[in-house]
Amino acid sequence: MTEKPVVLMPEDIQRIMGKDAQRNNILAARMVAEMVKTTLGPKGMDKMLVSPTNEIIVTNDGVTILEEMQIEHPAAKMMVDIARTQDSEVGDGTTSVVMIAGKLLENAERLLDKKIHPTVIAKGYKIAAEKSQEILNEIALKIIPDNDDILKQVAMTSMTGKGAESSKEKFADIIVKAIKQIQTDGKIDLNDIKIEKSKGDGMADTELISGIVIDKEKISNDMPPVVNGARIVLIDFPLELKNPEIDTKISISSPEQLQGFLNQEERLIKEMVSKVKDTNANVVFCQKGVDEFAQYLLSKSGIYACRRVAKSDMEKLAKATGGKIVSNLNELSPSELGFAETVEQIKHGDDSFTYVRGCRNPKAVTILIHGGTSHIIDEIERAFKDGLGVVASSLKTRMVVPGGGAIEMELAKRLRTFGQSLNGREQLAVEEFASALEFIPSTLAENAGLDPIDVLTELKSKHDAGERNAGLNLFNNKIEDVLAARIIEPYKIKSQAINSASEVANMILRIDDVIASNGKGKSGSSMRTEMNEEF
Ligand code: ADP
Ligand code: MG
Repeated sequence: MTEKPVVLMPEDIQRIMGKDAQRNNILAARMVAEMVKTTLGPKGMDKMLVSPTNEIIVTNDGVTILEEMQIEHPAAKMMVDIARTQDSEVGDGTTSVVMIAGKLLENAERLLDKKIHPTVIAKGYKIAAEKSQEILNEIALKIIPDNDDILKQVAMTSMTGKGAESSKEKFADIIVKAIKQIQTDGKIDLNDIKIEKSKGDGMADTELISGIVIDKEKISNDMPPVVNGARIVLIDFPLELKNPEIDTKISISSPEQLQGFLNQEERLIKEMVSKVKDTNANVVFCQKGVDEFAQYLLSKSGIYACRRVAKSDMEKLAKATGGKIVSNLNELSPSELGFAETVEQIKHGDDSFTYVRGCRNPKAVTILIHGGTSHIIDEIERAFKDGLGVVASSLKTRMVVPGGGAIEMELAKRLRTFGQSLNGREQLAVEEFASALEFIPSTLAENAGLDPIDVLTELKSKHDAGERNAGLNLFNNKIEDVLAARIIEPYKIKSQAINSASEVANMILRIDDVIASNGKGKSGSSMRTEMNEEF
């Protein structure tokens, strides 16, 4: 009698087990960290990413690079995820978090080689991460929310070395002003800050507008260029009779019939426009199309109108002006109107924008980014998002830390002292955790063309001597008190990064079996080929 084989899984399932799975995952994660490493810090380089459709992105932003790379390896994807979390939670520090996680795993390999069990390493890392949070809380600097100067410094530190560098002082000022304006009862919703982009002038022309700017011009030249005391109608239905995308056929057999038809059409449009006029509005923002005859009638009545306004802009306009978006002609009434002091068309380069200023809701603000090319504008936008993120985060926690690797050095030092109280194996893990944090200052040095070992040695001796704010100042390449050099970061950048990095490292360490269906996760990834070479 022949025994039937036991089939647990279908044949196309791929499985890697034990050490292979572990080393394979660790390698993939390390490769992700290697990839972004050269962009870290003010002297970091940019990357140019070219999409299959030949669109180009030039960036220094960790999360943008990783997202555009379309990474497929499952462990590498987990690294991309922590960069994303860092981006949504803090808005900055995406390169750092990935680098720390990669280094934690690299150092874990050394311990694995010494036959220390992965769960012991994971436990040691967890202890170290918790202790780090404790130390961070203890040594972070408390700030008062009124200290605009500190907030500006935090914004500038996050923008140093980005495309926005040359105007960072002005941008920091815009960021702090914008956030202060939208803040209510200590709460900040960054969605309240609209970012609009204009190609043409230089980045130094970037401006903060108290109000909403939309990238639409008035429909007709005959409409007034400025409306003071704006009474605004917001509609999301078209001011036209038929959907122009659908061809309708009507059969007409006599000139009278045609005239009759046209008359009726005119009459209906007239009715629509007069309903708008009846509300006593002098500005119309329409999410859909506006018929030519309607344009003529609106112009004749001195009404400023924009058509095909984006839905998101309509919502922002509603919030800013206190108006309601009306979906039905018959619901139009004066009570649905929004208000603003002025609505005005302003031209920048080839594009015209509509500025809605002096809104009823003072929380409405727009940052209008100017720049010579769309690549520059996009990178400035990313820098603004980082800056907005760090200032909001600093205000939320009211805590900041010194940058330039200073906080990482101090954490490492204190972790090592703490490690001495633990048993041998955990102590080793805590030590590796500490040296993973030092990867940040050493890379800042390396990317600036300095000798990382010299820099680390000097930093260590200064911290041992009690200089807790000693960091690498890359404005002058000196090791000194970075707080005095105004290199400051939000506390949350570090606490979030340490949390996420240690969590993902521990998760990857504990995996010793990778089961992938349809061959996905094993093949189809360009990383896979490179990794095989190493085994
Ligand atoms: P991330 O994506 O992690 O924010 P960045 O490329 O923005 O990466 O670099 C952030 C690092 O650069 C932080 O460690 C920060 O302290 C450091 N840094 C910023 N400005 C300076 C400076 N002037 N001198 C030294 N380090 C700086
Ligand atoms: Mg940054």
